[in-house]
Amino acid sequence: MDASPAAGQPPSPHADRPRSLSTPLERLPGVGTARAEKLVRLELVTASDALMHFPREYRDFSGAHAVADFREGEHASIAGEVTSVAARTTAGGRPLLTVLLACRDGNVRAVWFNMPFMNRRFAAGMRVVIAGMPKKSGLIWELNHPEVRWLSSEEQPHASDWLAIYPLAEGVPQAVVRAAVQAALTHVADLPAEAFPPDVLAAKSLLPIGEALREIHCPSSQSMIDAARRRFVYQELFMLQLALRMHRERQQRDHAAPTIDIDARLDSRIRARFPFPFTPAQRRVCGEIAADMRCPRPMNRLLQGDVGSGKTAVAIYAMLAVAATPVKMDGDPSAREEPTTAAKPAEKPLRHQAAIMAPTELLARQHMATLERLLAGSGVEVQLLVGGQPAKERKRILARMQSGEAGIVVGTQALVCGETAKFRNLGLVVIDEQHRFGVLQRATLQQGGTDPHVLVMTATPIPRTIAHAVYGDLDVSVLDEQPPGRQPVRTYRVGPEQLDQWWQFCCKKLAEGRQGYVVVPAVDESKRELASISSTLEALANGPLEAFRLGLVHGRMKPKEKAAIMDSFRAGEIDVLLATSVIEVGIDVPQATIMTILDADSFGLAQLHQLRGRVARGPTQGICGAVTASADSSVPRIEAFVATTDGFALAEQDLLLRGPGELVGTRQSGAPPLYLADLLRDSSVVAEARRDALELFARDPSLSAPSWSRLRELILKRWGEQLGLGKVG
Ligand code: ADP
Ligand code: MG
Repeated sequence: MDASPAAGQPPSPHADRPRSLSTPLERLPGVGTARAEKLVRLELVTASDALMHFPREYRDFSGAHAVADFREGEHASIAGEVTSVAARTTAGGRPLLTVLLACRDGNVRAVWFNMPFMNRRFAAGMRVVIAGMPKKSGLIWELNHPEVRWLSSEEQPHASDWLAIYPLAEGVPQAVVRAAVQAALTHVADLPAEAFPPDVLAAKSLLPIGEALREIHCPSSQSMIDAARRRFVYQELFMLQLALRMHRERQQRDHAAPTIDIDARLDSRIRARFPFPFTPAQRRVCGEIAADMRCPRPMNRLLQGDVGSGKTAVAIYAMLAVAATPVKMDGDPSAREEPTTAAKPAEKPLRHQAAIMAPTELLARQHMATLERLLAGSGVEVQLLVGGQPAKERKRILARMQSGEAGIVVGTQALVCGETAKFRNLGLVVIDEQHRFGVLQRATLQQGGTDPHVLVMTATPIPRTIAHAVYGDLDVSVLDEQPPGRQPVRTYRVGPEQLDQWWQFCCKKLAEGRQGYVVVPAVDESKRELASISSTLEALANGPLEAFRLGLVHGRMKPKEKAAIMDSFRAGEIDVLLATSVIEVGIDVPQATIMTILDADSFGLAQLHQLRGRVARGPTQGICGAVTASADSSVPRIEAFVATTDGFALAEQDLLLRGPGELVGTRQSGAPPLYLADLLRDSSVVAEARRDALELFARDPSLSAPSWSRLRELILKRWGEQLGLGKVG
């Protein structure tokens, strides 16, 4: 029992105290402590959190269907009267509830297993709407575990015709989330402040916040769902664009980068090092990079180019320019502080340094080999920094980096970015094959005094709208052209009954002197998977490929072993390389021109395209066979893969098939997560929000106008910390 309040003290708060947005959910009627505790798992703590927890989709609950409209596999909702309620236990001992409904044009059965508490909720004569997937069971349509709306019940006073389905977390059922949202909508007196000034709402036909919130949770029609979603999607993207702009401006204001001036002489000197002339696209992109690096602001450029388009050459061009540029001491404040240290007996002027980071060690080693080849006799010192180097060796390399003598450092991302790796004059960082590199990592990379220029390269082409939304503060260059003589890889789909024929075809090509890959999927490269890979190797070596020299490379091998295998493959001592997807990214052995992808259905589209890129490197037409488990089950991914070799087209397909989150890896990448916006579905809103945000930013870059103060606050709250924009207030 509570002690009664001492005389003279104000009464303690109780239930009818007005609720505000900041009221904890447990204090809202109909929520309570037990539910509130669950809701924490969804990071829902206050009434406002619940209001801003948007539905993921909606179910038609209008009850407008008739039995005659039912189709297997199509969601339906139907109204009817309960005519019988039967609860029994199945032969297997499971409670089973069967409710029979008399509907407008016939009877429908609803069944629930293992939900004995449902029994009490039905009685003959009740009118309900049930919604779910109808299935024909004998002569009658049956709905398994349908959602139910009791007509004229107090359960859901605001139940509308469209039932919101919320994103959930483990152990937090739909009903609990719904109860919290409904309670917040019903009992909270105030509303979140409107982010947009009234004239903007009117001009953009955006629903005002109150109406939008009501409609997004309890929509009155499909068109209101669309209108409410549009408002929040627009707001989310508009805010993100502004945040990225602010971030970028801050970068440019607060961060200085070395000026790298590539004059005509340096340009031709660098290009002369390559055994081929640059393609027009490569020349154009080199020009864009040169223009960026000429400014004393850090370059922030994303280079997109399909597999094989020659991104590495562009990166090397930029790195050589940096490594050839002497460090200017006069502009350096630290030099000015100590004027007495002038005139060191510098035989070699100190130059800027460049680093290239690869996602795998294999790729880092390959870049190293390329650089060594190109730079033979140039006097530029190149160092490789990867895992597993002896401590002494590592120490020596770190010292070369720190002293500034290592002009170019090649490594894996973790190492080059690591705590201990310090450069003396880092002028450029290239991040290769990185579609998992977002704004946030770049933000960390760029902290400190003078910053390097940054070039991010990706072979997973991101449609422009997406790139703008996710990498809004990056400039984008595109290598939209392959080096001359490239031919699209001829791609076949190989069903089980064509497999023998495929191997015969491979053998013929191999006998003509080609080299090739056989790729097997591996998720975790566990012992079991490796065992199955070994048995595949054995089966090939004793079967279809017995006439050829086989090699094996997988992710669990020691980097040195991997490198050794790759070297002998490159040297032609191995005809066919059996590999897991470690070869997916970037590996470049131009004379390998035939590839077999086993279990192709278990790869993603982007991955398949990357894999195929391995055999599109030389003048000989590449051939790729995608082996699938069954001939008839048509996997749309495989269809798309066989049909086109255009990486951009495939990227869009991939988006359609998988959703943008996975493609750009927003989750893992530190790229901004979006709550509501679906970058593909909402691409027109993406473009509109971006345009409007840029326009506002041009007029009022700090959002200082009073009418935008609320939006500014929201942006800082959502993005401020991550993007280093400062805190609210
Ligand atoms: P990616 O863009 O996939 O990283 P790479 O940079 O690995 O492509 O280049 C693929 C292959 O094309 C390499 O063997 C490279 O030497 C070659 N290459 C690059 N640019 C040209 C060019 N302009 N002309 C001819 N070959 C080129
Ligand atoms: Mg590459």
